[in-house]
Amino acid sequence: MTAVPHDPNCIFCKIIAGQIPSKKVYEDEEIFAFHDIHPWAPVHFLMVPKLHIPSMAQVGTEHAALLGRMMALAPKLALQEGCRPYPEGGFRIVCNTGEDGGQEVHHLHVHVIGGPRPWLKG
Ligand code: AMP
Ligand code: ZN
Repeated sequence: MTAVPHDPNCIFCKIIAGQIPSKKVYEDEEIFAFHDIHPWAPVHFLMVPKLHIPSMAQVGTEHAALLGRMMALAPKLALQEGCRPYPEGGFRIVCNTGEDGGQEVHHLHVHVIGGPRPWLKG
């Protein structure tokens, strides 16, 4: 499946639509961010495009601006959510893609993970 505006069977589409509750971090016309339900670290949130793109494997040049906006927003949200400033602090960005990439939810999402160590994973 390629990008569709909304997949009624997708858990992240349901979160974006408010049909499943989430702890919202940020929202605009194109992007939604919320806390991961099983955090690995003191800060762990997910950034998703509102458009249902299954994974990075379906990304094309038409999505470059959207992904660019997500990347530019990540450091701002990371600080807002409690990551310490670079270089002592910082964060990790993870984007699992496909089975081999460990992707469980097939709506493109970027993990933003940070805060003081030790972390549960990673
Ligand atoms: P992955 O597809 O492996 O990159 O990761 C999916 C992530 O979504 C996991 O870290 C889950 O903990 C998280 N997750 C799954 N369901 C929810 C939910 N309802 N609310 C918040 N996070 C979720
Ligand atoms: Zn979706």
